[in-house]
Amino acid sequence: MKGLLVFTALFVAVFGKETFNGDQVLRITAKDEVQLALLKDLTEMEHLNLDVWREPTDLSTPVDVRVPFIRLQTVKAFLDAEDITYDVLIQDLQVMLDEEQEQMLTAARTAAPRTTNDFDYSNYHTIDQIYAFQDMLVAENPNLVSKIVIGKSYEGRPLTVLKFSTGGTNKPGLWIDTGIHSREWVTQASGTWFAKKIVKDLGRDAVLTAILNKMDIFLEIMTNPDGFAFTQAKNRMWRKTRKPNPGSTCVGTDPNRNWNAGFGGPGASASPCSETYRGPKAHSESEVKSIVDFVTSHGKLKSFVSIHSYSQMLLYPYGYTTTPCKDQNELHNLAQKAITDLASLYGTSYRFGSIINTIYQASGGTIDWTYDQGIKYSYTFELRDTGRYGFILPANQIIPTAEETWLALMAIMKHASDNTL
Ligand SMILES: [Zn+2]
Repeated sequence: MKGLLVFTALFVAVFGKETFNGDQVLRITAKDEVQLALLKDLTEMEHLNLDVWREPTDLSTPVDVRVPFIRLQTVKAFLDAEDITYDVLIQDLQVMLDEEQEQMLTAARTAAPRTTNDFDYSNYHTIDQIYAFQDMLVAENPNLVSKIVIGKSYEGRPLTVLKFSTGGTNKPGLWIDTGIHSREWVTQASGTWFAKKIVKDLGRDAVLTAILNKMDIFLEIMTNPDGFAFTQAKNRMWRKTRKPNPGSTCVGTDPNRNWNAGFGGPGASASPCSETYRGPKAHSESEVKSIVDFVTSHGKLKSFVSIHSYSQMLLYPYGYTTTPCKDQNELHNLAQKAITDLASLYGTSYRFGSIINTIYQASGGTIDWTYDQGIKYSYTFELRDTGRYGFILPANQIIPTAEETWLALMAIMKHASDNTL
């Protein structure tokens, strides 16, 4: 039996796509600190192979965990024995993944778009389709959009950034990235929509036009392209980079724990098999180092927004320390304005605050580093939803998600622009 399992694992690793038949996502609610501590222990038991979608933090936020089918009985028995309450959020993950895949395939059967007007923003796309989209957008708008390659991923893919500029040199900049965690597909899809939105609104929307007169916008849609390719070819649930870890069979580093801001502190793992593995040293991942080099050499970024999913939150520094950042009041008020604007479209409700007070202590995170570099308006989004679908957000929510998020981004970019000389 063991031999068969090893063979099956090998077969999947080499030839197929990992499947999640019968895997469930449980929403677990701790009623006191004792239960919360038990849940932390549970999620850290590596032999259980649990995939934490939303980590144990405090008593007000439930924990979402994907439990492999073969561990369901063990985990549920443990929860029952400890009298810990849970609901089944997702009955069978593979059923949802099959639906998602079917929809992508159906969309792929229609002719490839010849212009960015024909691009189907209401569907998920492959990495090659998004690369092609970027090239089309540049070709259609040569005086506004250019493509910058800021580095190469571990597997050799170009790390491409779209630059939106109405001309001039040495303008201050605004940065947006999506997809640094590869399985958060609604983020790359939203990034694609943002790119088209900028092109459409320039000259039509007075606020965006004023922003672009003063500043350039940089947008990295596929911030972790190796991980993104892996989510499509092998394992839809892949979060990290794809660089091997010497001495371990586990691959990849969490690119949102790899920055030189409290690096190695609490809220990141030293174990290569963990989904929050911080990496061997700060900026060890080229996907991170390339942004570090870009930010440093540009020197005039005024806002830096890094977009994740899911949970519906807008967060500002810090994650690695409880010491409030010196601009906390301003960042807090701006976050409130941004989520109010966001909610005005479809009523989507967001929580907001500093990372450490709103979610949990996390060290080595992107926006803590950018803030410490002097980029005052550093924010992280967690887009839709709150767990009904989690990372498998149905494609019919892409455009609404992007539209509402854009309102919040505009609030942040306008404020940053208004406060830039
Ligand atoms: Zn994320």
